[in-house]
Amino acid sequence: MKNECDIVKDLLFSYSDGILSTTSKEFVEEHLKKCESCKNILEEIKKDCNDQKQAKEIDFFKSIKKKLSKKNIIIFISIIFLVFIITFNILVFQHYNAIASTMEIYLQDNILDEEIENIKNKIIEIDNNVELEYISKEKELEKMRNKLGDKANLLDNYEQNNPFPASIKIKTKVKIERIEASIQDMPGIKKITTHENNNPYELFIYDFFIK
Ligand SMILES: [Zn+2]
Repeated sequence: MKNECDIVKDLLFSYSDGILSTTSKEFVEEHLKKCESCKNILEEIKKDCNDQKQAKEIDFFKSIKKKLSKKNIIIFISIIFLVFIITFNILVFQHYNAIASTMEIYLQDNILDEEIENIKNKIIEIDNNVELEYISKEKELEKMRNKLGDKANLLDNYEQNNPFPASIKIKTKVKIERIEASIQDMPGIKKITTHENNNPYELFIYDFFIK
């Protein structure tokens, strides 16, 4: 028994690590069943292993804490902030720099559908990528109602006699004068207003807080 104990003791570390061959493992387990002393040694080994693991984990957290000193946290936040600012600027520029101009074309009440189409087509002819929206008299009245909110009943009498003109609203990347020059003499147009706005930040603020 004494001799077997020595062999088993040599094997216990490997046994605890689970790296023994099946035969050796069975041999150790057979022995452990009848030997209290070796069983106790195995318990000790297991306990030591756990303690080591825990110590390692504590060291790991301590080192992270050390690395995250106050100074480093400030640097880290500054970098995040900087990245955010740069990204924000790139996005605003990409999105708004090109779309520098808007135009509202107010239409006469007696304008024909065909004439509206002609105006739209003329604009598209100059700028393929124009953002173009036709707003009917009814829609314009509805928009005004929404703007007035609980005072919308002020507009009740205007249902039959709608004073708001229909319009075509466009956003373009092309020089706005080119579009204005080419459509201003077309029939059915009452008035044209243009906003040439080359500041992407103004457009961003308009889009986000005013529109
Ligand atoms: Zn033993």
